[in-house]
Amino acid sequence: MKVNPSNKTLQISPISQWWPTNQQPLLIAGPCSAETKEQVLQTALRLKKSNKSALLRAGIWKPRTRPNSFEGVGEIGLEWLAEAKELTGLPTTVEVATAQHVELALKHKVDVLWIGARTTVNPFSVQEIADALKGVSIPVLVKNPVNPDLQLWLGAIERIMHAGIHSIAAIHRGFSFQGPSIYRNKPMWEIPISLKALHPEIPIFCDPSHICGRRDLLLSVAQKAMDLGMTGLMIESHIDPDNAWSDAKQQITPETLQELIENLAIRNTSAPQDIVDQELLKYRKEIDYIDEKIIELLGDRMKIAEAIGEYKKEKNITILQLDRWKEIMQTRSEWSKEVGLTDEFTKNYLEQLHKESIRTQTRVMNSKGDMTI
Ligand code: PEP
Ligand code: MN
Repeated sequence: MKVNPSNKTLQISPISQWWPTNQQPLLIAGPCSAETKEQVLQTALRLKKSNKSALLRAGIWKPRTRPNSFEGVGEIGLEWLAEAKELTGLPTTVEVATAQHVELALKHKVDVLWIGARTTVNPFSVQEIADALKGVSIPVLVKNPVNPDLQLWLGAIERIMHAGIHSIAAIHRGFSFQGPSIYRNKPMWEIPISLKALHPEIPIFCDPSHICGRRDLLLSVAQKAMDLGMTGLMIESHIDPDNAWSDAKQQITPETLQELIENLAIRNTSAPQDIVDQELLKYRKEIDYIDEKIIELLGDRMKIAEAIGEYKKEKNITILQLDRWKEIMQTRSEWSKEVGLTDEFTKNYLEQLHKESIRTQTRVMNSKGDMTI
């Protein structure tokens, strides 16, 4: 992860100024893609009926990984969205990737624009959109770039802000990665958390649909976003998910979406301060105690590594003993699993521990070597 952004406060308007609803979470829902007029209108009506969505989304121009997939219906979809809005009163949002998309979306009175993950990665494209937005007043949501780079995400937000737009929010939709994962795009929660820590003024939405890529994980990811205090959610909803023309596996019906939102536990951020303080203080003390012990134990462990370094030097054997390392990895992974730690955490922890141990042993061997010369 690359994190090196400036933490100067950005001129972003509080969301309550441009999104006048106190719904929690603020929900943006609608199909991955507008497919037919009937599908857009029916989705909007059913979303309206469940009364959870604040904004109707639909992809009009679709960025597809491979050519010859469905690439969106284009401008006509904007007419369907305008009709859906007239029918339900739901304001609308679409993805824009070029100046021409911006022009057409404005022409058809779309209420909010969003910039997709594949566009946020490219400063030229983001700048083209920013230039097309000069002198225009419309909220813009900026999805994270596909790669885990906080600066690139912030850079896109800044480019839009410099065009004179201050109604801006970020959307966390996960990051591409190599290797196996249950997610389509890894959440890497530390990145939106860093964004929030550096810029609390930027509202953050979570897009569980593109993080999960499958329906069964949506609730847990949406819940995590709520637990982290995110402002809202963007979730794809389709009247016939299995037959959707894009992202079929991750879409849910408006009724399932309603159920999902009703199952979310929304933590009360305004609990009486003294109760929060007392409880938190108690937990923090316990954490302090445990961390102190862990660090003491790690210090003890390194002292043993030093002794091993001396022993290996004396016996003239190499620092790296592969069989021993493999055995450590295997036994510790099993122990970790038993206490509910994730494989990813254990692997990273053991790798760091091993590196530090090797560093310690190398230092011992070299210093002893110097002394004996
Ligand atoms: C989408 O929202 O349909 C989409 C294409 O998302 P992303 O830019 O996150 O891939
Ligand atoms: Mn999609």
